[in-house]
Amino acid sequence: MVAVTDLVAEAAALDVADPLAHKRNEFDLDTDVAYFDGNSLGAPPKHVAGRLAAIVREQWGGRLIRSWSEGWWEAPVRVGERIAPLVGAAPGQVVVADSTSVDLFKALVAATRLRPGRDEILVDADTFPTDGYIADEAARLTGRTVRRVVAEEMPAQVSERTAVALINHVDYVTGRAHDMAELTAALHRAGALALWDLCHSVGALPVELDAAGVDLAVGCTYKFLNGGPGSPAFLYVAAKWLDRFDQPLAGWAGDRDPFAMRGAYEAHASIARGRAGTPDILSLLALDAALDVWDGVDRGLLREKGLALGDFFFRCADELLDGAKIPTPRGRDRGHQVSVLDDDAAKTMAALIDRGVIGDFRPPNVLRFGLAPLYTTYGEVLRAVTTLRELRAE
Ligand SMILES: *Cc1c(COP(=O)(O)O)cnc(C)c1O
Repeated sequence: MVAVTDLVAEAAALDVADPLAHKRNEFDLDTDVAYFDGNSLGAPPKHVAGRLAAIVREQWGGRLIRSWSEGWWEAPVRVGERIAPLVGAAPGQVVVADSTSVDLFKALVAATRLRPGRDEILVDADTFPTDGYIADEAARLTGRTVRRVVAEEMPAQVSERTAVALINHVDYVTGRAHDMAELTAALHRAGALALWDLCHSVGALPVELDAAGVDLAVGCTYKFLNGGPGSPAFLYVAAKWLDRFDQPLAGWAGDRDPFAMRGAYEAHASIARGRAGTPDILSLLALDAALDVWDGVDRGLLREKGLALGDFFFRCADELLDGAKIPTPRGRDRGHQVSVLDDDAAKTMAALIDRGVIGDFRPPNVLRFGLAPLYTTYGEVLRAVTTLRELRAE
């Protein structure tokens, strides 16, 4: 067993050698706090507050209604193009609009319309609840049934009855990452479509939607993309489906000519057809500003640091937390989150937060520690584990 002092030296050496260490300065983070919840609410990049204030003053105030034709109306597609490289998408396939829940509904119903003769929807059995709820409702409205199957079982369970399978790229409880290319190929062999939820992978691990042949995807922007509380989600529609992407929330913003105020809807030719109504401009432009932190960031480095932070967490836990149960895989099949089982998770997390270590918990017994490679330090990882150890000793 190594001494804590050795781990302190190790953490310091890892922080000094970290090629992304300079990025932390771009975030507004209280130095007394060790923040491990970037997988639920990303920290604010420092420049966002000033940018938003200027937008309110100059665009909303100064230009008033004219701003709609000076960039606001097109912002959902423009900001989508900024997210596209982060998910391995060529231009023209990503739009930012509405919430993940709403975009899931659009994508699921559109998928059943692309696969009319098929009567079931497969849903990742371990999914984040909203995905399952929305799938149940999409199925109810389209006369399909939902079957819940764990992701690894999908290749064996998918059949000629399956219209679409909805899978979470990274499991929100355990941090386990699924093989997108392999599962998508298996679904395609049975003629089913693949719909991926990227909420816990975008901004963490490299995502290659085009290369994996993914049909549809949705993702959050307020987690690892740091877009701000409730910032709008994004929807990806593969180019091959775009002209047939027939989504059920056909509001005027997705119409081919919204300001013509015509009587009947006709979908826009572009990915703008994924929109429904008026975009929430302030949140959208806060996200736009927040995305600046990704400029010039090497995605390979980002992934390596996310894994290295996790490895260091495991190492500290092995040394300092005797017998800790960690459901997060230790190989590369994980996102940037480590979970620790704890019978008293709610109370333990409250005590951690009291001591400045901010993670979260998921019932009944999971402590979650998000590792954001742009701002989490190795020193903070050690602090989380030593604080957990102190609490256990008490
Ligand atoms: C965070 C998260 C959501 C959130 O959906 P909202 O509509 O933004 O509330 C959905 N699915 C997954 C997998 C998530 O992790």
